[in-house]
Amino acid sequence: MSISNRNALRAGLLYLLLSILWIQLSQRLLSSVFDQPEQLVHWQIVRGYLWVSVSTVLIFLIHARYQRFAHTVMHLMHSSADRERLRQAAAVFDCTREGVLVTNKDGLIIHVNRAFVAITGYQEAEVLGMRPSLFKSGRHSVDFYQKVYRALETTGEWSGEIWNRRKSGEIYPQWQTIRAIRDDHGQLSQYVAVFSDISAIKDSQHELAQLANYDPLTGLPNRLLFTDRASQALASAQVHKRGCALLLIDLDHFKIINDSLGHNIGDQLLKAVGERLQQLFGTGISLARLGGDEFAVLAENCPQVVQAAALAQRVIEGLREPFLLDGHQLFISASIGISLFPSDSLNAEQLLRNADSALFKAKSAGREGYALYTEELTAHAQHRVEMAGELRRALEQGELRVYYQPVHELRGSRLIGVEALVRWEHPQRGLVSPGEFIPIAERTGLIAEIDAWVMEKSCRQMCQWLRDGIELSFIAVNVSSRLFARRELYQQVAKVLDDTGLDPALLELEVTESAVMDDPEVALEQLHRLRELGVSLAIDDFGTGYSSLLRLKRLPVQKLKIDQGFVAGLPWDEDDAAIVRVVIALAQSMGMRVQAEGIEQAEQARFLLDHSCDLGQGYWFGRPMPAEQLDWQCAPAIA
Ligand code: C2E
Ligand code: MG
Ligand code: MG
Repeated sequence: MSISNRNALRAGLLYLLLSILWIQLSQRLLSSVFDQPEQLVHWQIVRGYLWVSVSTVLIFLIHARYQRFAHTVMHLMHSSADRERLRQAAAVFDCTREGVLVTNKDGLIIHVNRAFVAITGYQEAEVLGMRPSLFKSGRHSVDFYQKVYRALETTGEWSGEIWNRRKSGEIYPQWQTIRAIRDDHGQLSQYVAVFSDISAIKDSQHELAQLANYDPLTGLPNRLLFTDRASQALASAQVHKRGCALLLIDLDHFKIINDSLGHNIGDQLLKAVGERLQQLFGTGISLARLGGDEFAVLAENCPQVVQAAALAQRVIEGLREPFLLDGHQLFISASIGISLFPSDSLNAEQLLRNADSALFKAKSAGREGYALYTEELTAHAQHRVEMAGELRRALEQGELRVYYQPVHELRGSRLIGVEALVRWEHPQRGLVSPGEFIPIAERTGLIAEIDAWVMEKSCRQMCQWLRDGIELSFIAVNVSSRLFARRELYQQVAKVLDDTGLDPALLELEVTESAVMDDPEVALEQLHRLRELGVSLAIDDFGTGYSSLLRLKRLPVQKLKIDQGFVAGLPWDEDDAAIVRVVIALAQSMGMRVQAEGIEQAEQARFLLDHSCDLGQGYWFGRPMPAEQLDWQCAPAIA
């Protein structure tokens, strides 16, 4: 039963009770006062009216009282539920991590929560009565705020990203929801804004974009971003009929710095190179680090070959100034490959590939220089691919030959050894020199088979000569730098010695200086293992790489071969003469024998002999030739 029904029942019962009481009392009173029945009837009518009036008043009073009572009870019950709800809302309001701000309908702040204080840095007292425009960052246009107001007017709500300013002045992004609150009559009473600080999310988004598009070491765009930008630049250049140039810059011998001074210095150098390059270029030129020690430059308005070449020259000269890092003064040079748009290619990927071919050409031409991509270069690349296929066939069909070049003792001119040098007897092209096909064999992996074949063939030949009574102290075989780092080399040499039965002391392995110094730790281990087999070891082309004397001292090597590039200038070129003298002294001080390559003239042999070089090799003594054509009696006297 509802409260109002119960009240009505109570009022009814009371009324009934009072009516009975009234009839009883008034009947007794009237009977005692009036004797006449007419008088009594008359008074009974009066009493009836009186009763109706009194009871009407009574019913009204009772009902009104009960109404008030019921209302009070209802009110009490409601307000306790409201209080509970308010308490909950206040707790949420205070504990939420979102900032909450309430304004009255005029836009004046009337309430903020704890998170608001934490996020904005303002205390409650500082903002009460102020307008939210206090937090404006200045990043949004008037139009933006108008859109917010319009949304609040039409839908009563707005949410979105907004940049505001903290008390510290820092500008930060918020995700904000604003709602217009209306009272029971639909009148606007307040605005409530709830917001969260999304700067952390923004930062990680930014970091992700940075990681995907930028090189973390130098801060320069990476390959992905560079290719993307280059594509856009080329598209625009096509529309505006402009010419562009792409330069691929590769640092020369960077690996040596990394290996000798450590990766930390290597990284610092890359960073410094990035900064130096950035300083060299103005607007319209994008720079990127593609990876390792490779940088790329896109010049957007560079129609002429000469302009591109001048830019490359600027890079080369810009890097000449030494870098000062951690107390080290470092010199680094660069090789540059250039490809032009639209003459060389129309798309960014192809342009990069072409620049890479040009770079290869620049490196082969002796580094610290630039080369341009031309059709000839492409033809050259195609030729290399074709040659790889042919080389495979040559190996299978036995087109390779081993030639032997004599090595003489300088004192006495006695022929004491030979160097085995591979040749390719091409059915159409005739004799192809190793300088042409060894690099291709190295790129395609065929070098392992070639070197194994040459080694076996040479060892067998040496055994044959010994059986024929020819006195030779050694047969030298070249080992490719590609194989040198591999563990199989040791097994391969051991197998050849085992198969042929050659005395290991008669086999000399020649390894280039760069193969040894590229990875000195691996080289040291490899050389020691080979040495355990009893073979002797020589460093070929000494003087062309960057040797660390400290490392050289630790190598179990018995011979240094002076590169023919230094011998060529003897005896007149002072620099060459000085270098040769130093190398001889160095070898001797470390207990190694020293052999000069490329001796073509008697004066060269004389100079070398005078400076106590032990051995000599070159056209003056004898060219490389097939085994059966070697002249064992030849011993040209050094005048
Ligand atoms: P290398 O080991 O330094 O060989 C010396 C090169 O100088 C040979 O060139 C030789 O013919 C040449 N030469 C010798 N005396 C003179 C001279 O008086 N004047 C001039 N201008 N040159 C002279 P070749 O035979 O063309 O070999 C070139 C390079 O190819 C070799 O340089 C070696 O690094 C590599 N090579 C040759 N045969 C093999 C091989 O079987 N395996 C590997 N991995 N590399 C080989
Ligand atoms: Mg050699
Ligand atoms: Mg050599």
